[in-house]
Amino acid sequence: MTVISGRLVRFLLSTCLGLISLSRPNEAYSVVSDGTLKSLPRPDQDFDIHTGGILAPILQPRVPGTPGSTAVLNHFADFFRHSLPDWQIEFQNSTSKTPVTGDREVPFVNFIATRDPPWVASGNVGRLTLAAHYDSKYKPEGFIGAIDSAVPCAVIMHAMRSIDDALTKKWAAMDKAGHTQGSLDEHTGIQVMFLDGEEAFNEWTATDSLYGSRSLAQEWGARVNPSMSTFKTPLSSIMLFMLLDLLGSKDPKIQSYFKTTHWAYQSMATIEKRLRELKLFKSSPNYPVTENRRSDSKAAEEPRWLIDATREIKSHYRHSGIADDHLPFLERGVEVLHIIDSSPITGFPTVWHTLHDDGDHLDMNTVEDWGVLITAFAAEWMELENFIDTADVKRTPSVPLPRSEKVAEWKNNPDTRKTEL
Ligand SMILES: [Zn+2]
Repeated sequence: MTVISGRLVRFLLSTCLGLISLSRPNEAYSVVSDGTLKSLPRPDQDFDIHTGGILAPILQPRVPGTPGSTAVLNHFADFFRHSLPDWQIEFQNSTSKTPVTGDREVPFVNFIATRDPPWVASGNVGRLTLAAHYDSKYKPEGFIGAIDSAVPCAVIMHAMRSIDDALTKKWAAMDKAGHTQGSLDEHTGIQVMFLDGEEAFNEWTATDSLYGSRSLAQEWGARVNPSMSTFKTPLSSIMLFMLLDLLGSKDPKIQSYFKTTHWAYQSMATIEKRLRELKLFKSSPNYPVTENRRSDSKAAEEPRWLIDATREIKSHYRHSGIADDHLPFLERGVEVLHIIDSSPITGFPTVWHTLHDDGDHLDMNTVEDWGVLITAFAAEWMELENFIDTADVKRTPSVPLPRSEKVAEWKNNPDTRKTEL
């Protein structure tokens, strides 16, 4: 992602404001209880940067079209196939020339996983979509991109695994009870997008960036659901496009950028506040272990990551000037919640786009807290109160997972527009 001029952003946004509407009112969901927040599973060793079953395999160079990219794609596919077998996996494929590869077409592969209530036709499901890019920068050579965006991918994987059994239980209970006709909850699904080709190969321009998201938004905007579907296209099925980026550094500052999703931002801010009050945030200066080390007994001032929690957004959006994977979706009227560490004073984290953006420079307590916060937000959105049970969470083996030949084979065949495994 990069910073672009306010004028361009205003132009881009002015083209879509007419399409934006509040997709889901505040009152529509009930909050999760303190008990549920306390019982949310933590990523623990799965986020170990060397051996962790979720994060470690992503911490490698993964430039589009290279073996590292295929390996990470295989990791996603294996994770969902083994840990979350009820999810539908899809790959969306495109190719493009780039400024550094001459006439060679580089393949870009977006990974999408979706889970819908079992009784609903897919065109009738509105979804919470959690997105992050998985590609890494072409230069400098050896760039890892831990916060950009290996950690966001890992956080999403952990969150989805943490709520998966609760979804199964909830939908089984609803099915047994004859599920309420016509309720919003009955038609709510969840989706993960790991996007390729977000980074520029040379320098950020409209054509040298966002390769994967531009292709996906265009294709999904044109793919029409069966007639009589509630939603015309897979794009319009996205109730909220929640994009995570640049997460994993200490003391993140997350701003709220869009008036129409400010309520969702505030919901997440409320969860953050509650997790802090319940002393469940490991990065907090008041986390019990840290507290024991303090010489004085006074509580330290509790920081906030979502710094606009109490701010009233009067304009339609804040002129962030941040170009990221949300833009191709935003331009088509999709509701966006952009969770990106960008301080209004100091900007992006200091490691951004340097070789220091690697596993060693992550703040692991912060990374773990992101895992818990995003899990809680997803659990609340999916109305999973009473269905979360820590004991049900399947751990990911820390040994390297077998490579999926099918994905590698598919990736090498860019003519295939869509594959389901
Ligand atoms: Zn980047």
